[in-house]
Amino acid sequence: MTKSNLLVATILFFISNMVVGQDKTDKEVVSWEKLIQLSNKALQDNSCFKEGKFLAWQKITKEEEKMLTILGLLVNDKGKQDDNPNKYHPEGTKYYSKEAPIALAYYPYNGCDVFQCSKSGKLYLIYTEHGGHKPERRCRLVQPQLIHK
Ligand SMILES: [Zn+2]
Repeated sequence: MTKSNLLVATILFFISNMVVGQDKTDKEVVSWEKLIQLSNKALQDNSCFKEGKFLAWQKITKEEEKMLTILGLLVNDKGKQDDNPNKYHPEGTKYYSKEAPIALAYYPYNGCDVFQCSKSGKLYLIYTEHGGHKPERRCRLVQPQLIHK
């Protein structure tokens, strides 16, 4: 092996290690199945936030977000992040409807991180909404009866 070949091989070795390293530090994930399982176990009647808060998508403040622990990125049961940009709104429900389905394969649910309250075990989905004039963190309580797969 010539000196320059050796150099190239060394560089490639370091690059491949960096890529592997990145995989290791990748975010934790939460599958649909785990999301449903955990939200069914949570104490749904124990309200941590003000009554009715986050039943529909709502802005969450930094202070409120600090009360929650991140579990990981929501992925489907195949371990993949769905990238469907469409929204799912049957029966006249709208983005802000409390009765809107939590449609896991659709936007914005498919781009959410899953958070948990350590007191009640309740799960919350949070994402950054870029639609307004400045990015805003939006949050919705996971209500098992509204989940649509
Ligand atoms: Zn709680």
